[in-house]
Amino acid sequence: LDERARACLLTSRHKLEEIMKPAYLMDHMISDEAITVEEEDMITNQNTKREQAAALVDLLLKKDNYSFRSFYNALLKEEYDELANLLKEDLPLTQFTSSSQCPGEKFQTLLSEGGVPPRPEAFVPRPKEENEIREKLYKLQKQPGWVTVFGMAGSGKSVLASEAVRHKELIEECFPEGIHWLSIGRLDKPDLLAKIQTLCFRLEQNLDSQQFHRPPSTLDEAKERLRFLMIRKYTRTLLILDDVWDSTVLKAVDIHCRILLTTRNRSLADVVNGSKHEVEVNSGLDEDKALEILSQLSKIEMYRLPEEALSIVKKCQGSPLAVSMIGSLLRENPDRWGYYLRQLEKKQFRRIRKSSSYNYEALDQAIAAGIEDLSDDYRDLYNLLTVLHKDVKVTAKMMSVLWGQDQVDTEDTLSEFVNRAMLFVDSQSQPNVFYLHDLQLDFLLEQNKNQLKSLHKKMVERYVHRYRDRPLTSRDEESLYWIRYLAYHMANANLFQELHSLLFSLDWISVKGQIMGPAHLINDYLEYGSILDKEFQEFLSLSGHYLEQRPFPDIVQLALSQPHTSEVYRQARLLAQERAKDG
Ligand code: ADP
Repeated sequence: LDERARACLLTSRHKLEEIMKPAYLMDHMISDEAITVEEEDMITNQNTKREQAAALVDLLLKKDNYSFRSFYNALLKEEYDELANLLKEDLPLTQFTSSSQCPGEKFQTLLSEGGVPPRPEAFVPRPKEENEIREKLYKLQKQPGWVTVFGMAGSGKSVLASEAVRHKELIEECFPEGIHWLSIGRLDKPDLLAKIQTLCFRLEQNLDSQQFHRPPSTLDEAKERLRFLMIRKYTRTLLILDDVWDSTVLKAVDIHCRILLTTRNRSLADVVNGSKHEVEVNSGLDEDKALEILSQLSKIEMYRLPEEALSIVKKCQGSPLAVSMIGSLLRENPDRWGYYLRQLEKKQFRRIRKSSSYNYEALDQAIAAGIEDLSDDYRDLYNLLTVLHKDVKVTAKMMSVLWGQDQVDTEDTLSEFVNRAMLFVDSQSQPNVFYLHDLQLDFLLEQNKNQLKSLHKKMVERYVHRYRDRPLTSRDEESLYWIRYLAYHMANANLFQELHSLLFSLDWISVKGQIMGPAHLINDYLEYGSILDKEFQEFLSLSGHYLEQRPFPDIVQLALSQPHTSEVYRQARLLAQERAKDG
């Protein structure tokens, strides 16, 4: 520890011991990795608060400048302004970008000069993913290449990328000539040129060269200048391109160098040369970690968090972006837990708005950006997903019906969405099944709320079209979806006539009864009862128990036992006649 800092601690120790509560301060210091959990235990084992404070000061006296900084920041976070002021004058003169793995000041300077953003205010480590990125970066030690970190909007890709490079040994061993962070985002060519010009300028400045270069004036020229700089002088440098949307950006830096990029679009690097590595980022944090973010931001200890906290975390499926935006709002409005939970439930993502360093101010903008970036055709196809029933996972076959595409086109469309992290695939199941993240589905529902009826109608039309010539049978792989949800789509499309015919059709009762059992069938009649015929309901309530039987009973025979004047009987008779005709 710096002499001045040490002296300052000694002179202020009386005041510090009198006022501060070490427990809260230590939480921050642990997350900065400035002290260990064992050290915390040793301090908490002291009998009184004052003894604990004294033990913390003793510990700090044995530590380095980094820990002193972390302590100072913890005081500020816990609003001990008076105490923080006592230390302020004697703070060691280093840029505070926290990490205990690399407390070396030279390294900190390298990070901040390279433009690596600091940790977010509330931070939870994700060691598995951080290490996975580091492992891939180690592969760039010997040869140039690309590491793509991909995942859904707000899943924490940038935070992970910056955390992964906050690692002294990795940088010293693999990228001793430094790292350069470029925030890309959705930009056009002139903006891209400006970014590369700035990068060239930064690199040239570091060379202390007296030579004056005019900035490159076209993208090609910029690429050449960068190639020259990289190959001649910065071979073992890491470029980090954050939030890339367009492969033009990658082509402009396809110059045989070492690149880490974050993107929602997994396939961006397909167009460039060299070795390629990938790390997929989970869209959500574990519940505990997400709660930890809420706790850090709201300054309420984990075990005291209100019950809405868990509901919020569940509702956004642990999305780091959503949870941290809500957490920051709650810090300003600590009594609004219920309010923000309701906003989430009502899909009012516009209300989840917070100005922060994140590229998008509100949750809806972050998700909308992905949809805006699609071509018109893809956007229409994506919008059709709005009416998929929540919690349902669909197969490619089923999607080919919904999209009116053949199998190959459907597979291409699905992988386009999956690559852009706008749809998820469960590849464990055979055939693969696809699903939306709850936040994406809720966003679609809110955005398309005035078109729901027509979207449901389209779904029914596509069904009718596909099975016009060859009725659906239980052997069709996609039959499960339709059997379960066709009535739901018809009802939501206000296609009452069609719903009526469907639910009154003995074919339908037979197929649905066989596949899903009577409970689901009867549920349809309860749910859409108001638009149904009494006779069919009676038929089902009297004959429903037969539908449990295996082998499945002959539904036509059952129906033929109904009064001869009923619709049920009429249909059964028709079917029986058809059977007789077919032999
Ligand atoms: P992405 O790059 O995937 O869109 P970011 O990395 O920018 O997402 O993260 C979005 C927001 O989520 C950040 O601004 C931050 O508030 C929060 N966040 C992400 N990762 C973490 C983390 N490990 N701990 C705490 N908050 C996080």
